[in-house]
Amino acid sequence: MAMANVGRPTQPDLEISDSAAQGAIAGGRGLLQDELLLFEVGGADRTGVDLEDAALDASDLAGLTRTAPIGLPGLSEPEAVRHYVRLSQKNHAIDLALYPLGSCTMKHNPRLNEKAARMAGFADIHPLQPVSTVQGALQLMDQLAHWLKTLTGMPAVALSPKAGAHGELCGLLAIRAAHEAKGDAARRRVLTPTSAHGTNPATAAFVGYEVTEIAQTADGRVDLADLAAKLGPDVAAIMVTNPNTCGLFERDIIEIARLTHEAGAYFYCDGANFNAIVGRVRPGDLGVDAMHINLHKTFSTPHGGGGPGAGPVVLSQALAPFAPAPWIVHSASGLELKEEDRGFGRMCAFHGQMGMFVRAYAYMLSHGADGLRQAAEDAVLNANYIKARLSDVMTAAFPDGPCMHEALFDDRWLEGTGVTTLDFAKAMIDEGFHPMTMYFPLVVHGAMLIEPTETESRRELDRFCEVIRVLAAAAKGGEAKRFKAAPQMAPLRRLDETLAARKPRLTWRESGATVS
Ligand SMILES: *Cc1c(COP(=O)(O)O)cnc(C)c1O
Repeated sequence: MAMANVGRPTQPDLEISDSAAQGAIAGGRGLLQDELLLFEVGGADRTGVDLEDAALDASDLAGLTRTAPIGLPGLSEPEAVRHYVRLSQKNHAIDLALYPLGSCTMKHNPRLNEKAARMAGFADIHPLQPVSTVQGALQLMDQLAHWLKTLTGMPAVALSPKAGAHGELCGLLAIRAAHEAKGDAARRRVLTPTSAHGTNPATAAFVGYEVTEIAQTADGRVDLADLAAKLGPDVAAIMVTNPNTCGLFERDIIEIARLTHEAGAYFYCDGANFNAIVGRVRPGDLGVDAMHINLHKTFSTPHGGGGPGAGPVVLSQALAPFAPAPWIVHSASGLELKEEDRGFGRMCAFHGQMGMFVRAYAYMLSHGADGLRQAAEDAVLNANYIKARLSDVMTAAFPDGPCMHEALFDDRWLEGTGVTTLDFAKAMIDEGFHPMTMYFPLVVHGAMLIEPTETESRRELDRFCEVIRVLAAAAKGGEAKRFKAAPQMAPLRRLDETLAARKPRLTWRESGATVS
């Protein structure tokens, strides 16, 4: 085994067409360095700082004093810096290049927002501080709530949910509380379209509902007849994404809302794709009862890599009384956080992600109402540019008419080439692009969902389209082998994703033995 593979998972035996691309002597590739685990490079004898031995009073530790060395690896300062810089280079990032992950809205995160979020009055406060000392922070939350309500045309908002999926949970808990308050316990089902994001049925199931799928029409929208047939006195809510995950506006959304309300159910709208319509459409006007807004998508707060998100939920008049604690009220002495339980308690320990509130608010103020609308229009324009530039080499899933913020292709154009959607996506990595969203939505075979966002320039869009066009020609030109071996330039090349998901190695032992 080559030196570079010591202590790392073994590579699947792939044929590498260009041996120079392997960089197998010490694991480096071009200017990208290999990096071992901290436990492999660090040692108990090394440290970046000199600390005096602490004068420890064992009685403070209630008999829990450590009897053996802690076993954490020490590193010198340059080793520590290099470790994290090298790891950071193994990830794609929106700061590196286009990140066309459909449904994820990977847009630029303006640095102005970062500057505001780091101001001491926001960054250094504690959730248990007396409210009289955090009036500015509460005022920002109150203003953010005001603009979220204004942009959606909804009367109430719960700021505390920490992600889109958490917002879905909040919305469905409010819906359940509303039905319970009416004494209506018979509603056991939630309807979701076949194109729904996986979090929708997962949330409904988590709350204890049975999930029933609504069919989709040939042009990618909710099938109204199927919806009408499935609505009934046992349905608590429908969950519909708009624009939907095929990148299309739900043309019949007002009728969807009407049918839903007529059946006594509530309309949950998955608002993760709000970026495409903000400033142009107010979900409240469409009859929506609850909708989460991913601040980390539409309002440009950073995401990816599992960092903090924020998924505030706007609520209709009917659901507002069931919002979770806390909420902000104006009193004679200033702003206060009310903590009463109005139905199902609270979504998290405190009030939500303050840093994300600051970033989202800074984004709103720096764009203004006209700028937010322009962002939505440009997001749609960019997606349509991609759809137009690639539709002659790939097959658009819904070729008729424009798309909204993302362009959806299927894999009919790869038929007979021996190249799959996955292979094609892997080859994009070798060209310096993060793959598009693959195999989602499930209703489209071999789906490739491309969301460029509004923050990409015409030049970057052209660079991306050129890469896709050349790769498409190679796939159709019989170069299947190259695609099967891709990515060749990535640090670990092609991974066995099924094995990684089913049997992840989560711990490391000094002997090198791994425990799964
Ligand atoms: C991103 C997304 C979600 C989930 O949001 P998280 O913040 O990742 O929990 C739900 N639905 C759709 C359509 C999304 O794009």
